[in-house]
Amino acid sequence: MSLSDYESVIGLEVHCQLKTRTKAFCACPVVFGAEANSSVCPVCLGYPGVLPVINREMVSLALRVALAAGCEIAPESVFARKNYFYPDLPKGYQISQYDRPLATGGGLTVTTPEGEKFIRLTRIHLEEDAGKSMHEFPWEDVSASSSLVDLNRAGTPLIEIVSEPDLRSGDEAYEYLVKLRRLVRWVDASDGNMEEGSLRCDANVSIRRKGETTLGTKVEIKNLNSIAHVRRAIEHEAARQAESLDKGRPVVQETRLWQPDSQTTRPMRSKEEAMDYRYFPDPDLGTLVVSRDWIDEVRRSLPELPEARGASLASRHGLSPQDAALLTLSRPFADAFERAVSFHPANPKGIANWLLSEILARMSDADRQAGKIPVPAENLASLVSRIDDGTISGKIAKELLALMIDTGKTPDDLITEKGLRQVTDEGLLGDTVRKVVEANPQQVAAYRGGKAAAFGWFVGQVMKATGGKANPAVVNQLLRQALDAPQEG
Ligand SMILES: [Zn+2]
Repeated sequence: MSLSDYESVIGLEVHCQLKTRTKAFCACPVVFGAEANSSVCPVCLGYPGVLPVINREMVSLALRVALAAGCEIAPESVFARKNYFYPDLPKGYQISQYDRPLATGGGLTVTTPEGEKFIRLTRIHLEEDAGKSMHEFPWEDVSASSSLVDLNRAGTPLIEIVSEPDLRSGDEAYEYLVKLRRLVRWVDASDGNMEEGSLRCDANVSIRRKGETTLGTKVEIKNLNSIAHVRRAIEHEAARQAESLDKGRPVVQETRLWQPDSQTTRPMRSKEEAMDYRYFPDPDLGTLVVSRDWIDEVRRSLPELPEARGASLASRHGLSPQDAALLTLSRPFADAFERAVSFHPANPKGIANWLLSEILARMSDADRQAGKIPVPAENLASLVSRIDDGTISGKIAKELLALMIDTGKTPDDLITEKGLRQVTDEGLLGDTVRKVVEANPQQVAAYRGGKAAAFGWFVGQVMKATGGKANPAVVNQLLRQALDAPQEG
């Protein structure tokens, strides 16, 4: 059997750091990149006798994501202790939610080659992060090996977003993560930065023969620290399992570690069962009660969600659904588009085209997320309006954009300063056309002899002679007259 006889069944568990000012159960500030162990207190260090207090902001941010994803919110949910030992977990347990999570159901729509597909969520629950261990193991002197622990991250609020096993390929998982990351950023719940660890993903992957409905043995893959790695790791793991089954070896249920350098996975540990963690309700934390009023308050404070915003952009500005979807890659980017349109409402389509091609290509991912376009929205609008009113050609506009970015000047100032105004004067262009035609008798003969492609060559010559400033429509018309007319005689 080949890989194409199998289908992959994938569920993702995404840990997402919430953008709170303080930690989940104490008043320590959430910091990134600060001096080790500088943002800690007896609560997040797990001293005996201390009492954790639920951070209301954490719950509000989790509610934003859950409501945006269409989840059902539990009026009462329960924090549980997940017991395990690790040096970066000073309490000996992690506070999480187990059998009574904050939210269940909901889902996200992803775009696949077969069309739109709804990926269901199992649940979204709250938990705290652990600290960070750093291991030093110098081969030249193993006696100098050491492990250091930084507990700044211990107690940082997270949500875990668990999907149903609805994903069928690495590509679908990729799309899902792109949508999920956009959503948590869109509602201001998380910065969603996977490289900095504020979004972390584990993938549960199994395969089965196409047509089968029972689930195969699943393998959990960890250490997926970019969305591209998630896709690669899933593809690799599905192929590994298929090869194993083809050789008559059953898939072993285990946790495997993705190794970006070799683009392979290796076994990490056999999968522990939930009972190994001895979950039980945290006696220090009461039931988390979320009132109907609180839910309504959060719902009212949510912005228009990405899909709705895209549909509204498309209908208000006459854009294609594809362009509208691209413009909603982040909320600030969609805002930048609408700001530009407000300065030149006559041509939203033109502004969208410039934003999605020339401008987007010059933006870093961080700029895209922040909607930080390289020219003021007003100048972009003015650039498009100068093309629309015939002052400059589309070709010159590209040069002009580069100048605008370099100098920060307005299109109008640069058009005057650099003499970029488009030449439409028929007398002036007529002279140039005549000269080009007279200087190239062979090409003229070739064109008249039926070589239609030679026409484009003449257009190119005239554009070159005018430094690209000739109005192409006028040039076309004059060239037709010069080249086609004499044949009538
Ligand atoms: Zn603390």
